[in-house]
Amino acid sequence: MSGPAPVSSSASLKIGIVGFGTFGQFLALAMIKQGHSLRATSRTDYSQLCADLGITFFSDVAAFLGAENDVILLCTSILSLSQVLKSMPFHSLKKPALFVDVLSVKEHARDTLLQVLPEDSDVLCTHPMFGPESGKDGWRDLNFMYERVRVRDEKTCSSFLKIFEIEGCRMLEMSCTEHDELAAKSQFITHAIGRILSDMDIKSTPIDTKSFEALVQLRKNMECDSFDLFSGLYIHNRFAKQELKNLEFAFEKLKHKLPKRNDEEQEVNQECMVKNSR
Ligand code: NAP
Repeated sequence: MSGPAPVSSSASLKIGIVGFGTFGQFLALAMIKQGHSLRATSRTDYSQLCADLGITFFSDVAAFLGAENDVILLCTSILSLSQVLKSMPFHSLKKPALFVDVLSVKEHARDTLLQVLPEDSDVLCTHPMFGPESGKDGWRDLNFMYERVRVRDEKTCSSFLKIFEIEGCRMLEMSCTEHDELAAKSQFITHAIGRILSDMDIKSTPIDTKSFEALVQLRKNMECDSFDLFSGLYIHNRFAKQELKNLEFAFEKLKHKLPKRNDEEQEVNQECMVKNSR
């Protein structure tokens, strides 16, 4: 990320990341740049990568929870969130923390966090609407959705949100339900079309139009994301099922309309020929 930070820097936070995969690592780089102290734990051993980045890596989740994190940032896959949280020994927490998730589905994350976390933990649900590809040149003007689900420590919550403000994100406060309804109509459809294009194995040709170039790019972007992410968008967003039905319905409608159009045109052509022959 480049360019000067437009907002003054936030108080330094101790941020513990759970799930140090693609997206966890991507967020970590901006947080390190802003001077926060990072720790991480994950199913896979990322100790070497973390050491290179100056992050403390914990294989032991109890020790991770006991490390007095101000914020615990959940970056696990949508499909594994519930299992990961339920296996965490929360009695190891030395003080209440702000739990933040970045899952691309929000009602499921909110419900799981409220169900599993200790009552004295604060909860902030967020969805950065960008990733390593769309955010590779910085986060300026990229959307960041959040809902303060259960926040008592305003200072920590504001300091955390400030990380994204500093990078220039468009901060959008909205309910998890509203997010899921909108995301099913936008993000889920984008991923579904991208996956279909990938299954069709579309490729650049020597005579690409600009629109086709955009489709090839869409295919490439969607292939950067894991299939776990895509299936999570469907399984844990109750609005996605209707959007898939709408997509199927629109496709069927198109299939029926195309040959009919041909029939209609042929009828018109025949009528013209009859008229002309008179
Ligand atoms: P992902 O495939 O959705 O998640 C990968 C992460 O989940 C890794 O940290 C992985 O741990 C962990 N994980 C997967 N299965 C697990 C299991 N059974 N037990 C424990 N941990 C498990 O890919 P991602 O792109 O990194 O996304 C992470 C989260 O960020 C997701 O919730 C996604 O919705 C959200 N998000 C992603 C983007 C994006 O552009 N990629 C944008 C916004 C939000 P290991 O690495 O240790 O195996």
